[in-house]
Amino acid sequence: MLEASPVRAFSDNYLWLIRAPRDGRSAVVVDPGDARPVQAALDEQGLALRAILVTHHHPDHVGGVAELAARHGALVFGPARGRMPCVHRPLDDDDEVSLAELGLEFRVMAVPGHTLDHIAYYGHGALFCGDTLFSAGCGRLFEGTAAQMLASLDRIASLPDQTRIFCAHEYTFANLRFAATVEPGNAEVLESLESVRVLRSRDAITLPSTLGRERRINPFLRCREPAVRAAAEAHAGAVLPDPADVFAAVRAWKDGFR
Ligand SMILES: [Zn+2]
Repeated sequence: MLEASPVRAFSDNYLWLIRAPRDGRSAVVVDPGDARPVQAALDEQGLALRAILVTHHHPDHVGGVAELAARHGALVFGPARGRMPCVHRPLDDDDEVSLAELGLEFRVMAVPGHTLDHIAYYGHGALFCGDTLFSAGCGRLFEGTAAQMLASLDRIASLPDQTRIFCAHEYTFANLRFAATVEPGNAEVLESLESVRVLRSRDAITLPSTLGRERRINPFLRCREPAVRAAAEAHAGAVLPDPADVFAAVRAWKDGFR
């Protein structure tokens, strides 16, 4: 199983540090928004940084890229659409990231919605999905449309149930509070809310999740469930015939949820 440890940054970001299976001494980091905590984790774990994977252009995901790349001579992979000067290997949908000397290989999935350039990295039974999918939630629509984001989430949902989901933020508790409002009859949401409440009271991480679990608790992956649709229609005060309309209504509901 792929070994990835969270590096905390800012108030709730996780920068994922992947240990290379081939030598155990090299590492790849996903979305280093801040160089300092990544460097501290590399020093502490005795790892050499060899590559950087970027999911999208937001500063809390790329802020540390230039410094880390220069310091370590690390190769930077990122979305071609983002046109980021720090990216050495621009990636499009279905491209492959092959780091044979590290024993790592990822397939690129274009997942527009949160931003138009957003990509995710899938490999070794793990998905690094940045700000597209969160546990029990999804990213806000800053650039894309509801239909684009739903299509991106549908693609992610087509991966195997056991896929481990490495999200970029610790939003799980707030997301589950919302999920419990949308689906008060979903027992697994209510159980998860309680177990996550305990974890967060100890400042423990709630990730990675699995896709199977997300399919059962995440309202944004459940827009075709009658209960989610009925709740969205009741909240919006309108009939929502299309899953993209349900998704848009749930997203707007969450945006205003406190
Ligand atoms: Zn973002």
